[in-house]
Amino acid sequence: MDHKIFLGAPSRPLRVAIVGSGPSGFYAAEALFKQPGLNARVDMFERLPTPYGLVRGGVAPDHQKIKSVTVVYERIASLPGFRFFGNVTMGRDIQVEDLRRHYDQIIYAVGCQKDRSLGIPGEEMAGNHSATSFVGWYNGHPDYRNEVFDLSQEKVAVIGVGNVAMDVARILVENPERLAKTDIAPYAIEALRKSRVKEIYILGRRGPAQAAFSLAEIQEIAGLELSDLVIKPDEAAIDELSRTGLSDPIIKKKVDFLTEQSKRGTGSKTKKVHLRFCVSPIEVLAEGEKVKTLKIEKNVLTLDGKGGARAKGTGRFETLAVGLVFRSVGYHGAPIDGVSFDQESGHIPNEQGRVLNSATATVLVGEYVVGWAKRGPSGLVGANRADSQALVKVMAEDVSARRFGWDNPDPSCGPIETLLAARGVKAVSFADWKILDKIEVERGARLGKVREKFTSVPEMLDALALKLNF
Ligand code: NAP
Repeated sequence: MDHKIFLGAPSRPLRVAIVGSGPSGFYAAEALFKQPGLNARVDMFERLPTPYGLVRGGVAPDHQKIKSVTVVYERIASLPGFRFFGNVTMGRDIQVEDLRRHYDQIIYAVGCQKDRSLGIPGEEMAGNHSATSFVGWYNGHPDYRNEVFDLSQEKVAVIGVGNVAMDVARILVENPERLAKTDIAPYAIEALRKSRVKEIYILGRRGPAQAAFSLAEIQEIAGLELSDLVIKPDEAAIDELSRTGLSDPIIKKKVDFLTEQSKRGTGSKTKKVHLRFCVSPIEVLAEGEKVKTLKIEKNVLTLDGKGGARAKGTGRFETLAVGLVFRSVGYHGAPIDGVSFDQESGHIPNEQGRVLNSATATVLVGEYVVGWAKRGPSGLVGANRADSQALVKVMAEDVSARRFGWDNPDPSCGPIETLLAARGVKAVSFADWKILDKIEVERGARLGKVREKFTSVPEMLDALALKLNF
């Protein structure tokens, strides 16, 4: 008898592997457990010993309210049928073929691991960084803990006007003593205390009506204790082409706020955040090996042919004397060995979340993608919930239609934990993570912080070894 007939029944639950433990992965697990008529078992694989993806390693440390969403993920992790395998790298410790042998369906919830580059001359020079590396650094992400940022520079450019750019600018000028109470990485707070950064230029290539940041984020910058938000009135002004955009109340509120802010002049605080519009970076110029100036070009807006506005250079240039440049122009996906990937878009190619073979564009039945890896790096944490729920509906449709990609799981292959152990992989369970979590919170309490994070994987594994004979 075909064993697939019983898939999803209490006697034979659907076995799903989720790769990645950020918001979209947890929401997919939740949706699987809630899917009517479907009994599911979920094993979640994560490269780091710690879960939660960008909620831990991306959301700014002074945004603890956003980070508190992890309470929801903890609840999901406590549901029967959920298991966490941290410290397991897909493509190295475990391959797609292994997952096919052990599971009925696979979900890639791997987000976007890299950043976009600008493609301008001088971009690779010392003193020129991606915002993603700075964000990972101050958040204690093990991949970025050894990055070095020359905060002895007084002037800094941040390219792009999305919410990540706002985070970067805010962390650079916020009172370090406020940040010290958060879960910011210990080395980052030390460096920020010594920082000489005084002026930040945040550069938007289009106008105020097209700015990607949220109103709350820019208001937060305007309200900082030690810095003024400075906007040139002529750059805050709305051009003819952008007027139609003001019918959107969200854009209108943002534009009104920026207009009002531009009337406030330069203010009297010691630090300045200059928000510029309609300027594009053209070249990073160096003295010796180090960034010295950023050449920018003034833009005008023209129609982009899709009802929107695009920036067009005017041939009028300016130079900003900055010693440090952060590009914050969006995240970009990174390929995983054995998993379909579209290099240009940086996504896993898919149709409604069903993964497509990148060469033939045919559906790879049984493989799914969700979150930023599916739709690109946009949307707040909560936006992933609807996306994951939609994906699980698609997966349930495939179960009902008995569309399975392989004859699995292989009854002879044994439990996945046996395979991992045989390969010498020290998988970290959710209970293990809770031990690390407790240590971090306790260390934080002693220092008057929300938590003092582990920032290196060996440190985490050593701590577990001490507690658990790991
Ligand atoms: P984003 O919102 O897509 O913003 C990217 C910015 O880079 C835009 O201003 C874009 O301008 C600009 N840009 C792109 N290419 C450029 C180029 N070649 N030259 C100059 N500028 C360029 O991306 P993000 O800031 O990385 O944020 C990613 C997502 O995470 C967003 O949905 C964001 O809201 C979310 N997030 C939220 C928070 C929060 O809620 N606090 C914090 C961080 C991130 P154009 O518009 O002209 O393309």
